[in-house]
Parts: sequence; C-alpha cells; structure tokens
Amino acid sequence: NKILRLILGDQLNSQHSWFSTTDHSVTYVLMEVWQETNYVVHHLQKVVAFFAAMRQFAAELQAIGHEVIYFKISDPENKQSFEQNLQYLISKHSYTKLEYLLPDEYRLDEELKRIAQALPIPTTISDTEHFYSTRDELGKFFKNRKTYVMENFYRYMRQKHGVLMHGDEPITGQWNYDQDNRQKMPANHLPPAPLLFANAITEIKKEVAAAGITTMGYLPENNLSWPISRVQSLELLEYFVQNNLPLFGTFQDAMTPLSWSLYHARLSFALNSKMLAPREVVQRVIREWEESAGKIEFHQVEGFVRQVLGWREYMRGMYWLKMPDLEKANFLENTQSLPSWYWTGKTRMNCLKHAIGQSLHFAYAHHIQRLMITGNFALLAGAHPDEVDAWYLGIYIDAIQWVEITNTRALSQFADGGQIGTKTYVSTAAYINRMSSYCQGCYYDKNKKIGDRACPFNSLYWNFLDQHESKLARNPRISMVYKAWYKMEPDTKAAILEQAQQYLEQIEEL
Ligand code: FAD
Ligand code: SF4
Repeated sequence: NKILRLILGDQLNSQHSWFSTTDHSVTYVLMEVWQETNYVVHHLQKVVAFFAAMRQFAAELQAIGHEVIYFKISDPENKQSFEQNLQYLISKHSYTKLEYLLPDEYRLDEELKRIAQALPIPTTISDTEHFYSTRDELGKFFKNRKTYVMENFYRYMRQKHGVLMHGDEPITGQWNYDQDNRQKMPANHLPPAPLLFANAITEIKKEVAAAGITTMGYLPENNLSWPISRVQSLELLEYFVQNNLPLFGTFQDAMTPLSWSLYHARLSFALNSKMLAPREVVQRVIREWEESAGKIEFHQVEGFVRQVLGWREYMRGMYWLKMPDLEKANFLENTQSLPSWYWTGKTRMNCLKHAIGQSLHFAYAHHIQRLMITGNFALLAGAHPDEVDAWYLGIYIDAIQWVEITNTRALSQFADGGQIGTKTYVSTAAYINRMSSYCQGCYYDKNKKIGDRACPFNSLYWNFLDQHESKLARNPRISMVYKAWYKMEPDTKAAILEQAQQYLEQIEEL
C-alpha cells in the first residue's frame, strides 16, 4: 500500500488527525501551481504568503518524520496543474491510493472529483477538521425557512457548541451586544501598532517574478509581515487578545487614516489557511475575558465571537448552499467597469484613497472599509459583480472564494437579491463621516450633493436608489429611504441625478 495525500495551499492544519502518526507508506504532496496563481490577478503579498506558509508547513512535516514531496513554482518537474502533477507522481511512484481533504472552494471541489474519476487508483476524501459546522449544516438548519437570518444561525451555533452559554441561555441573558459596539474613534485616540513579522521572502519573490505571474499591489521590502507558520499565527492571536480585544467591539466599525488595522485581529489569513482553528481562537478570546476579572467588557468578546462563530461559519454554509448559482448572480443587472484607480488608489476621494491605498500596501482592509468604502462605491457606480469579485478575490491576503464571494457579491453588492445581506450597503457621505475622519482631509465637500466639489457619494447614492426603484423600493429595510427621495422637490431630484451622471461619466477623474 502506497498512499499519496494531497494538501492544498489553504489546508495547512498541523493539528489534523492525518499528522498524528508518521507512516512511511504515506507521502504528502504540496504544489505551487500556475493554475492557482493565475485564475485571478492576486496581490503579490498573497501569492508570496501562501507559498511561504506552504513551504514552512512542508518543512515542519518533514522535520517530524513525514514523507513530503513539494513542487515549487520554479521546479522544472512541476507540470503546473493539480491533475498533471498527480498523474505524473502516481505513474512515477506507483501509488495505490490518493487521499485529499475537502476543498473549501467549489471550483476545486468539482475539479478534484473529476480528477479522482479519471485516475487509475481509488480516492478517499476526509474532512479538514477546521470549521465548527459541516458544509451542509446551514442548509439543513434553514430548510423550509424563507430567510437566512445570520443571527438565528449564530444562536444555534452558540447553543450547539456551548459558547458563552449557561445551559440553553446566553451566559449574560442577552445574545447580541451590537448596540454597545461600533463607535467612532475620538480624534486624539491612537490604536496599538499592529504586530508585523519580518519573514524573509527574497527567494520566493524572485521565483514568482521569474515564473511570469502577474500580480497587483506592493511588497517593497524583502520581508513579509503576515504570519507564515503556526507559531507566528499563535503569536498574532496572543498579541490580539493582549492588545486589541479590550476595544475590539467598540471600534469595530471605525475608520481612520491614522491606522490601517485599528483594533482588528488580522487573523483572517492564519484562519483561512487553517494554520489556526476557529475553535482555538474563540476559546482563547473567552479565556482572556474570564481571566480579566471584568476588565474586558463582555460586548467586546461577544462582538468577536459573533464574527468567527457567527459570520464566518454562516458565510461558509451559505456558500455551499448557493453555489454555483451565486457566482453568476447579478440581481441589479450591473454592467460597468471599476475605475482604473481601484488598482492605484489615485483618486481625490480621501476615503477611497486610503481604503484602496492600504489594500495595495498591506493586502488588507478591515470589514467596514471593504463594505462601506470600496464596496459601497462599486455598487453606486454600477460595477459588474464579476469585476468586483475579481478585485476582492485578488487584493486581500485572506481572499478565498468561499468567504470572498459571499461577502462581496452577496453582502456588499446585493447580487443575490438580498439573501445574505437583507439590505443594500450603500450610503452618502453622512455615514462615512459618522464612522471616520476621512472627510476632514478630503478634496470633496461632505455636505454638498451638487455643485463644485460635492461629495460623489451624495448624488450617486440617490441616483442608485432612483435607478433600482422597481427592485428595491418594496424591500422593508430600504423603503424608508425612498420616502425621503419622494419628498424631495422635482428640481432638486433632477439636479442630483444630473450631478450623478456627470460623475459617472468622469469616473476616472474623480
Ligand atoms: P476581525 O475584524 O478582527 O474579525 C475577526 C475574524 O472574524 C476575522 O479574521 C474573520 O475570520 C472573521 N470575520 C469577520 N467578519 C467576517 C465576515 N463578514 N465573513 C467571514 N468571516 C468574518 N473575509 C475573508 O476572510 N476573506 C475575504 O475574502 C473577505 N472578503 C470580504 C469582502 C467584502 C466586500 C467584505 C465586506 C468583507 C470581506 N471579508 C472577507 C470579511 C471581513 O472583512 C474579513 O474577514 C476581515 O476584515 C479580516 O480581518 P481581521 O482578521 O482583522 O478581522
Ligand atoms: Fe469620501 Fe465624500 Fe468624505 Fe471625501 S467627502 S472622504 S469622498 S465620503
């Protein structure tokens, strides 16, 4: 018996039962392949981070006695696709069985099923042992229900896993603390500096360039600040609980040009590559709260648990429920292109300049920047969801389709007609100004809807509502704002729509 076990780049779970014993009849294979680097234009830091983490993982497996084959992107033997590399290894080494772990992406799931059919040897599939829920658990939970309310799934997860519970009831008697969170950051408040690693990546960077892989964004230094091992991932988790957790919820939705990550955990890459498990992250955070003897407020902790146990599991479940239709959905029938400054950050709109600029520099923006700055503008500009998806899937260090497309196409772009996000996440400058200090330094005037230097969000917002009236006006979560639109004088409405048209025509110059 000779077994070949495939490990994908986002399956770096060293705690998996596969690795609990060493067995020389089992060989693990990891591959850096064009197939994965080229299906979308990725951020350079993302490609480098995945390769660096995969190489580190392979080295660690070898160090504890496992047999490992590793295809670097530069290896002459590398056939650059999963199928061809597997065929090649199986014929070269006469493996008798292939084993792989459930992929999290629909694309790879389908492909591996097809490859398995075509191989001359049997295949078995195992769970990644990463998520709290199984792929189809959410589908079963919402069976026969018309809506997919995240809060309901979150409460079920809390109950099922006994997280922050006292029997069947929430430990404090209240499930949701959203009203205590989400404050604007005071002008003189500076969040702690993020913990940045200095991982040497000169060689990988050279190999990526030599392989001719097209990337976006910057990696000017010869080191990478993202964690590339379990040890570093745990260090980042520890840094988070010590430094950021105490104000995590309070400033969860705040934005400032002074800090690119505020109180956020920056754990999404470590989680999505599976170097960390959601369970251990949640448990560590709760332990910190328990040991803090009241110093850390409960709403900070509940706010964080809601993201990982709630949103993250919910998005994964919705992905498996709604794919493959989701990746084609375009409820609002949008057709425009994203302006080219999404790839340079060169716009006079201060909020977008910062949100895009930091994405290019760090391969990271936090949730509200993604949702209420770049996503908001893309939707107001009528960008085609395929383009928006490609941008998000490429630019962020944590972007893997199961969690990217559910957040982008569905939640942010409303392309699923409101199954995941029950309202459209669009706003005027008023919201952006309430949650950030971007407007203070902006070329545009946050208070103006029309005329010289009027903030583009203000006219584009009403234009968006006007344009999609037949699809949105009856939505109970949106209908309120239509009342305000209907009350405006016809002349005012016409002037706003004209201003919006002008901005859309000159979108490259904004
Ligand atoms: P924190 O704010 O510190 O939150 C802690 C953890 O909670 C995160 O690491 C993440 O694992 C989880 N989490 C929080 N919100 C969500 C959410 N909405 N969905 C799933 N998990 C969540 N997240 C990705 O992991 N990959 C993506 O490609 C991605 N694309 C997004 C696109 C858009 C348009 C939007 C609005 C959100 C997207 N998100 C994505 C969700 C969220 O923005 C990121 O998970 C978060 O910003 C990661 O940074 P953090 O680790 O500092 O998060
Ligand atoms: Fe953004 Fe408008 Fe505020 Fe400028 S004024 S930062 S464009 S919301």
